[in-house]
Amino acid sequence: MCSPKVMHCVQERVQREGLPGMSRRSFLQLGAAGALGALAASLVKTGGVARANGKLKVIDLSHVFGTKIPTYLPDEKPKREDFVTVERDGFYIQRWIYTEHAGTHVDIPAHFIGDGKTVDEYPAELLVGPAVVIDISEKAEREADATLDMRDVEAWERKNGKIPEGAIVFMYSGWDARWDDPIAFRNADASDVQHYPGFDAETATFLIEERKVNGFGVDTLSLDFGASTTFDAHYAILGRGKFGVENVANLKQIMGKEAMVVVGLPRWEKGSGGPARVLALV
Ligand SMILES: [Zn+2]
Repeated sequence: MCSPKVMHCVQERVQREGLPGMSRRSFLQLGAAGALGALAASLVKTGGVARANGKLKVIDLSHVFGTKIPTYLPDEKPKREDFVTVERDGFYIQRWIYTEHAGTHVDIPAHFIGDGKTVDEYPAELLVGPAVVIDISEKAEREADATLDMRDVEAWERKNGKIPEGAIVFMYSGWDARWDDPIAFRNADASDVQHYPGFDAETATFLIEERKVNGFGVDTLSLDFGASTTFDAHYAILGRGKFGVENVANLKQIMGKEAMVVVGLPRWEKGSGGPARVLALV
């Protein structure tokens, strides 16, 4: 609840008492909760979102959700209908039927782990963090079943320094360019075994235990490489209470830049995940 009167009081107080200036680097180093708090304060200080947007560019990391999108299971295509329309009812609402794992979406522990956290109880502070984008597109072009492994992490760290605590680590394989062609995106063979890149499970474990990352993202349909039947990366990530975003878009636009990512996970009861608006603030 945020009435205009309350907002006005906060704004007045911030203007009276002031706030220390916040560089982009300090914004990224503050960590999730601190950065959001400072961001909210700076929005108030600078007079609102319109002003802040002049400084922070927002990159949308989500694909458009639709009825023809690529899906992991062939019979998982979302369905939609006009529930009420402006012409008939005076206002417009659609009704959708889709699985929690369609489109750009989040996997959280309950997706694979019996007593794992569901979306309604998943901690919001884990859903924000600095982006680390690791490019494996060259090897993915040669080998569709490639995984993001320790050599890729080491190469990234040699160039950029240690992966920061609380980071959200994204695999960029170049696969998002196939999004509008569901058959090429799924890349299934004659036995319906899918072929696209994913995370190596031991590397995901290293990133959680040694780098204390918050979560993961891939530009493909699964955290695991498509042909996996054991889903080791899913178990490594979700089994340690972390999350993964699948079908991430536009990672190339934030690669090599400092960006804070906000994962807009829906908070429905007992959810195993859900379609998300994933935003990068650059
Ligand atoms: Zn999923």
